[in-house]
Amino acid sequence: MNRLIEVPEYEVHTEVRVDPSRTALVVIDMQNDFVHQGGGLLVPDAEATIPAIKSLLGLARAHGMRVVYSQDTHGGGDPEWRIWPEHAREGSWGWEIVDELAPAQGDVVLRKLRYDAFYGTPLDHLLRLWGVDTLVVCGTVANICVHYTAASAALRWYEVVVPRDAISALDPFDLESSLRQTAFLFAGRITTAAALICGPRREVSRLTGKPELLR
Ligand code: ZN
Repeated sequence: MNRLIEVPEYEVHTEVRVDPSRTALVVIDMQNDFVHQGGGLLVPDAEATIPAIKSLLGLARAHGMRVVYSQDTHGGGDPEWRIWPEHAREGSWGWEIVDELAPAQGDVVLRKLRYDAFYGTPLDHLLRLWGVDTLVVCGTVANICVHYTAASAALRWYEVVVPRDAISALDPFDLESSLRQTAFLFAGRITTAAALICGPRREVSRLTGKPELLR
């Protein structure tokens, strides 16, 4: 079956302001297996997102924003390899985070077993300790680990921001459908890396309906 469908409109914000003291940048699975030629589960568009992710890292580090990387991690016989080709074998070249986006001192790298970076990791615990209520989520794969992490964050009432030029998918349909879900289903803000600005927040809290404190 081959059907042509149109992507429903969703807003791409031309400016998103985040308070760096309450925001974390989450870089999902930018590992050799997904990003570079020779990788076990190559996402052809992932390499082109490196500059946008680099600029997000630059912004985060310049403003003292928390930076978290997820590192997809599997071992022999992992059930995920029955769904996908073998990838992210712990200790292999493919498992390593790409050199271009190497974590800096103070960044947190969380090994994760499933698509959702909250599942079986201390991510939620760390974010709460840090007083973070907003996540900027980037990396790959847009509709898989990026999406399930963004969705899992939104279920916990974190604000979610996704710069669309800093994510990649195996198919344009998958990328668009995940962004549509993010915008439509849990009021995540879709934007671009260059449109993210660090500064006082002006939004009303979705949880309490009250204006956020300006800092
Ligand atoms: Zn995996």
